Amino acid sequence: MFKSILVANRGEIACRIMRTAKNMGLRTIAVCSTADEHALHVQNADEAYLIGEAEAASSYLDGDRILQVARDAGAECIHPGYGFLSENAEFSDACKHAGIAFVGPNATAIKAMGLKDRAKALMEDVGVPVVPGIHGSDQSAQDLGEQAEKIGYPILIKAVAGGGGKGMRKVERVQDFSSELAACQREAKNAFGDDVVLLEKFIENPRHIEIQIFGDRFGNYVHLFERDCSLQRRHQKVIEEAPAPGMTQALRKRMGDAAVEAARAVDYHGAGTVEFIVPGSKKLNDETPFYFMEMNTRLQVEHPVTEYITNVDLVEWQLRVAAGEDLPLHQKDLSIRGHSIEVRLYAEDPGNGFLPSPGKIHSLGWPEIASDGLRIDTGIATGGEVSRFYDPMIAKLITRADSRDGAIERMAQALKQTAVLGVKTNAGFLTDLISHEDFGRGSVDTGFIEAHLATLPSLTRNARIDAIAIAARLAWCETDRACEDFSNDTYSPFGQANAWQLGSARITAIEVEIDGVRTTARVNWPQDDAYEVLIADEKFLISDLDMQNPLKASARIDEKPVNFSIVADGETVLVYVAGHHLSIRAYDFLSLEDGAGIGGAIIRAPMTGKLQRLFVAEGDVVAQGDRLAVLEAMKMEHPLVAGISGIVAEIRAAEGEQVSDGDIIIMLEAESVEV
Ligand code: ADP
Repeated sequence: MFKSILVANRGEIACRIMRTAKNMGLRTIAVCSTADEHALHVQNADEAYLIGEAEAASSYLDGDRILQVARDAGAECIHPGYGFLSENAEFSDACKHAGIAFVGPNATAIKAMGLKDRAKALMEDVGVPVVPGIHGSDQSAQDLGEQAEKIGYPILIKAVAGGGGKGMRKVERVQDFSSELAACQREAKNAFGDDVVLLEKFIENPRHIEIQIFGDRFGNYVHLFERDCSLQRRHQKVIEEAPAPGMTQALRKRMGDAAVEAARAVDYHGAGTVEFIVPGSKKLNDETPFYFMEMNTRLQVEHPVTEYITNVDLVEWQLRVAAGEDLPLHQKDLSIRGHSIEVRLYAEDPGNGFLPSPGKIHSLGWPEIASDGLRIDTGIATGGEVSRFYDPMIAKLITRADSRDGAIERMAQALKQTAVLGVKTNAGFLTDLISHEDFGRGSVDTGFIEAHLATLPSLTRNARIDAIAIAARLAWCETDRACEDFSNDTYSPFGQANAWQLGSARITAIEVEIDGVRTTARVNWPQDDAYEVLIADEKFLISDLDMQNPLKASARIDEKPVNFSIVADGETVLVYVAGHHLSIRAYDFLSLEDGAGIGGAIIRAPMTGKLQRLFVAEGDVVAQGDRLAVLEAMKMEHPLVAGISGIVAEIRAAEGEQVSDGDIIIMLEAESVEV
């Protein structure tokens, strides 16, 4: 066995590989870019080397530099993880020439499977069924168009060099073919530097079922059963599981044998995955057809579900095979125990088109399930950062139980107990999917997410979530915790507990910005520890707020218990509740007012109402943030505050006067400097 390993990757996969390497007694060597100098994979390694700039092209994709580090550090092998250099035939070759073992297949196997058209041709030769379509044909638009008609619409145009769900276009009608083809070729050229495409019959709502295979240098092959990766968004996997729901023994054997044939055809050694598409999604039977899509010549993101059900450490096997050992087990020794599910927790905003949400992680709260039924693979710790330069995955949560229902239940629990503060995540979205009754029934296909997207509750923030966040923010301020930031908070009812207010309505308008959007709530606190929050005509009673441990805070909303986490980030408070991440701060009235114009700030009535109180007179000196007046509108009190420090130049309304929305109430002027 090797004594040292360089992991040419970052994030969770680098950490995961090093975990096994350490267990096996190897010295671990990390590489990192300038964006990752404090990253977890660097901390976890015995040694780490800076290899370049944040852009992957000048660091994690710089094979020469990485090989140089490997030589200098005396690494005996290089594990490429997934992505980056993992399927780069030249790099595999270069390692070989440098006398350093590449933990993966040889360059010939990578090349043979690297392009989708060549791989399909090869599979046809060895009798593995492929998706009906054409590949390797003339690339002229006319020829491809004729082929498309022969296949029959709808068809899928695929870039042969595509990957990661990119470079694919579905065409429904003949009229759209040429424009879609041109677009796909352009995209492919830009993204992969190769505009060759193939055409496939588009299979409606199929399942994606893939087989984990393993080969050694002595021609031994096994498969480690299937993974169902049908839950995808835009052709990218979101939730994976093993075994596939409804899989039959006979179908598993047919698919496993085909996958092993595929591997044998390219003299494959190491871990690989053969991906099949399975039409007629819902019910599998012994005769269900399946078609080869592609082979991934590396460790997959979703490999942990296979590890859980087979009790095999796939990275250990990779290292053994790379070191020249035989496969540790024969096919007959392998069996499935229980069921495993993985979800990919991403820093992204499902409420906003799933845009990546990079940023600092203020706090990461993982579930405390003390059992062998939960595994969390992550490359980020509290204080770390989701970098905009790389894939925004925060972690993979993987559960195992005796039954599928058990694994789902455990995942639902795990997600409930996960709290990420600092960035938006898809945690709520994952919870919705995991708890969906159709998913529970195992009724999954690649169209599942799109079909249900509109009805998933987590995609829209609701008043209930806002109410909890607002009450939490108020209580947070009360506890003095963030009062460095909030003591001058004019908008907090705690900042307004003046005598004059005692006799009047106890309802106060709270103007906050939630995720940058102005939100008005009315807050009434009938008892000391309970808030009645009214948002958009909905009323919520929030009681029993317990924020002793802000990361494990709790309250009751309309008597129902709810857990949340809260942390201050400067003037903003971050609240994580039920999979939602909200950043909430006092509404910035400055952003509304004309602070420049006449050299002062103009304070307008935010809505029609009565100027209940006026605290200043013309000529008074005020500081930015001072409360100048209170407007009462719709039984709410709206504080009007100074946008700038200066002098009250003009007051246009008197106490008790009725004013209209947008009326100028007070004009301030910045104090001029005497010369
Ligand atoms: P990539 O290399 O980009 O991952 P794949 O060929 O593996 O591309 O396909 C990714 C996903 O796209 C599949 O999991 C499946 O959901 C969908 N897909 C691929 N080919 C077809 C097809 N012929 N019909 C319908 N969906 C397909």
